[in-house]
Parts: sequence; C-alpha cells; structure tokens
Amino acid sequence: MDRMAAHIMYDPNSDTRTLQRNMRVLIDEARRNEDKYQRFQSLELLLLGSHNLSELIRMVIMQYPQDFELDAISLILDDPHHEIRTILEDEGVDLSNYPQLKFNEHNTIIQKDLFNDQLPELGPYKTNLHSKLFSNHNKSLNSIARLPLVRQGRVIGSLNLGSHDDRRYIKGTGTELLQRLSAIITICLENTLNLERLKRTGLTDALTSLNNRRFFDQRIIEEIERSRRNSQPLSCLFIDIDFFKRINDEYGHTVGDKVLQQVAKLLDSHMRRSDVLSRFGGEEFAILLCNTAANSAEETAERLRSAVESNKILISDKTELNLTISIGVATAYSAHNVLNIEQQSERLLKAADEALYDAKEQGRNKVCSAKKQAST
Ligand code: GH3
Ligand code: MG
Ligand code: MG
Repeated sequence: MDRMAAHIMYDPNSDTRTLQRNMRVLIDEARRNEDKYQRFQSLELLLLGSHNLSELIRMVIMQYPQDFELDAISLILDDPHHEIRTILEDEGVDLSNYPQLKFNEHNTIIQKDLFNDQLPELGPYKTNLHSKLFSNHNKSLNSIARLPLVRQGRVIGSLNLGSHDDRRYIKGTGTELLQRLSAIITICLENTLNLERLKRTGLTDALTSLNNRRFFDQRIIEEIERSRRNSQPLSCLFIDIDFFKRINDEYGHTVGDKVLQQVAKLLDSHMRRSDVLSRFGGEEFAILLCNTAANSAEETAERLRSAVESNKILISDKTELNLTISIGVATAYSAHNVLNIEQQSERLLKAADEALYDAKEQGRNKVCSAKKQAST
C-alpha cells in the first residue's frame, strides 16, 4: 500500500520542469555574465585605443557611466604639480564641464586612511568617508565601489562608482572585472601622460624649464588664429636682460645660468594661466598675452620690469645681484587685417623686437611700445 502511495506521488514531469527551470535560470545568468563581460571588454578596447589624455578621461567619466548605467562616478587624480590639469587645459578641455574629475593637488581629497590598503572597497555608502568622493552628486547614494589606481605600489588616483541601489556594490563580490578595468585605466593614464611628457621635452628649455623657442613659434600661430577668430587683441612682450654679459664675465657662466633660472622663475610667477612665456634664446624671453590690448600689455610689462628691478638675485650665501630688464611691447588687432597669419606673426614679433631696441636705446630698464599696431 505504501509502495502504491509513493508511486502515485512521484511525478517525473514535475522533476523535469524543475530541472528545466533551474537550467533556464543558469543559462540566463550565463548570458547576462557574457553580455557584461563583452561590454567591459568593448570599454577596455576603447580605453586602450584613446589617442590622448582628454579622450581617455572623457571615456572614463562620460562613456563608462552611460554604457553601464552608473548613478554616480568620480575620478580623482593625484596631481601635485598641476601637470595633468595643464595638459588637459592645453588640449582644450574646459574643466568646469567635468565636475566628476577632481585633482588631488594638496592632498586635500585623497585621505591617507582611504588609501592605506590600496585594495578596492565595495559596500554601503558612508557619508563621513565617501561624501568627498562624490561632491558633484547631490542625490543620496546607497552603495559605492572605490577603486584605487595603483602603479608600482603608488596610488596615482581613485575611480569611484556610486549607486542608489544598496545591492549594486556588495563587499567581497564581483570585484575582478572592476579591478581589471581600474588596472587598464591606470596603464592608459600612464601611457598617455608619458607620451605627452615626451612631446613636451622637445618644446621645453632644459635650463629654465620654460617653453622654448620652438614651442613659442607654434603657439604664436595658434594664438593669432584664435585672436582673429574671436576678434580679440593679442599682445607680445619681448624681454632682454640688461648687461647680462657682465654677469658672465664677472662671476662665470655657471652663475650666469643660475641668474637666468631665477629670472625665468620670477617672470613665470607673474603669469596668468592663459599667458605664454618662453625663453626665446640666450638672455631673451618672449611672452604672448592673449586677449590683451596695448595699454594693459604695457601695464603687465611695467609690473615685470619693476619686479625684476626690486628683486635681489642671490648668487651665493653672501652675494646678491641687482638686475634689470628692458621690454618691448606690441599688439596685434585682428579687425580689418589684410595679412595672412604667418605675416601677422612676423609683424608682431618684429614690432616687439624694435620696441625692445628702443628701450635699450633709451638707457635700458625701460618698457617701450611699438609705434604702430602690428596688424597694419
Ligand atoms: P644688453 O643690455 O645690450 O642686452 O647687454 P647684454 O650684455 O645683456 O647683451 P649681449 O648680447 O652683449 O650679451 C648677452 C650675453 O648672454 C652673452 C651670452 O654669453 C650670454 N648668454 C646667452 N645664453 C646664455 C646661457 O644660456 N647661459 C649663460 N650663462 N649666458 C648666456
Ligand atoms: Mg640679448
Ligand atoms: Mg641683454
């Protein structure tokens, strides 16, 4: 009788249905995983193919959140010397459009305790620990993934992902793909930065670390194009140290070199972000002042002249030098210009150089302006 009952209760079709259901769940999960894996792979290929830093950053903070439906992202890069910031600005990036990108410039954002173990952190959002990472995001987050970007044992940044879903980032689960992604981002960052550094060494003066003549020659063309496009004036200052030969003669070439470095540093400290300062050659410097009319260019020149005059240059523990510079100022106005860009660039440089000659003629330690506007 018992055997009969067991026989009646056993339904092979029900077992098959359960098995089939389980199989479907497993297959669905496998498909989802495969799909996720492929999407990560496509993103990684895009990142590896990026041509420059701005493209790479754009992919990380724009494309990635879009493709993976992330609620919040931030990328923090260690940038103590403003190198990355400068490269991006030079590539034409308006950083105010990228609130997701932050720079750790004075160890303000990347707290030491957050980066002690250099391992990713996944789990619940904690205001006291994570609000700084997502200061650009105003909706409340419930889970986060913080992925340190580690290169040769050093944390160079942090990629931070946030979700409104408290189950999206769970401690101890599914970190492999995220870890691989952050490793790829780290390598791509390092590669694009190194490429940029290589490009820049050819455009940098080894003694003063200022831009060199080659850089200046490229930039003046670009700045003239820009000033024409925007109908803005462009001013040029030509600077020459007065009686520099005497310093070499009296104290030797090595001291002369140190003096050049200090003058370069002093000039640089007076520059705005948009100004282009370069060592033009020997003891001569040239500056482009974008969107600057003649009168304010003269004021800037006068500030530089007076700064050098009043600044004592230390050449040893005991010896200080007084130094002066002469400056020629010229301005190009784009309106009604009949010259082509190269001609206008030559004209602007020549006008500044002639004005510098006048300053020397008038006794040095002077600012002189070009007699005519350089555009006519
Ligand atoms: P002026 O007021 O007319 O400009 O007089 P000056 O002595 O500054 O001008 P001059 O052109 O006679 O001499 C420039 C000197 O700058 C001569 C050159 O040896 C020196 N010089 C150029 N490049 C360097 C450099 O890289 N290092 C050092 N130490 N001296 C340099
Ligand atoms: Mg000279
Ligand atoms: Mg000189």
